[in-house]
Amino acid sequence: MALSYSRWSDFAICAKQFWFKYVDPAREKKPGFDRAVQAVGVEAHESIEGFLKGDSVAPEMSSFFAPKLADLQGLAKSETQFAFKADWTPCDWFDKEAEHRMELDAFWLDNVTANLVDFKNGKVKATGWRDQLEYYAIAIFLTFPEAKMVHAELWYILHDHISRDRIFRWELPGLLTKWADRATKIAVGPYPRRPSGFCKVCKFYFNNGGPCDGSPESA
Ligand code: SF4
Repeated sequence: MALSYSRWSDFAICAKQFWFKYVDPAREKKPGFDRAVQAVGVEAHESIEGFLKGDSVAPEMSSFFAPKLADLQGLAKSETQFAFKADWTPCDWFDKEAEHRMELDAFWLDNVTANLVDFKNGKVKATGWRDQLEYYAIAIFLTFPEAKMVHAELWYILHDHISRDRIFRWELPGLLTKWADRATKIAVGPYPRRPSGFCKVCKFYFNNGGPCDGSPESA
């Protein structure tokens, strides 16, 4: 099973919901529960993607983000897919041996510096947000040998907030090990329940029509 950031994010919240969603997808809840929220996110991403690719109509954005997005038009490549095998050699997105898949919302190279932006529809994350940027920086470092540093940003488009950090090429060996370990974890498990405040919005929670009662695994 190929790793993506969203899959890792699901696994990190609760390995059992990952299992329901990807390992035993027959249990995936029928459309309804959170499809409306997903649709809003997809629509926002599609309008930003269209604008970055040259559409004259800009997506509706706050006065904080609108000029920043305008600066990216004609500069950034949008919705670019990268895929790698387990040994980190590049491959086609649909290659059966693809073990890592990264889709970058927007990125561009400026000499030895790469820049990337990921657009977020959800709440601002106080911790753990560098993870996603690191994973995407791997794609850039492996694809563009000239890139020495990645200036990476998460744009929380509903909250007028940007989280940003710099990721350096010297970090690459450690990042490859970290994400290879994560690819192994999602592939082989184990997939225990991890009850938390997330349960009440989990589509596999019994209150939401799912099969899980949200109790600890031993119960
Ligand atoms: S209800 Fe809670 S414990 Fe059960 S799968 Fe969802 S997040 Fe995990």
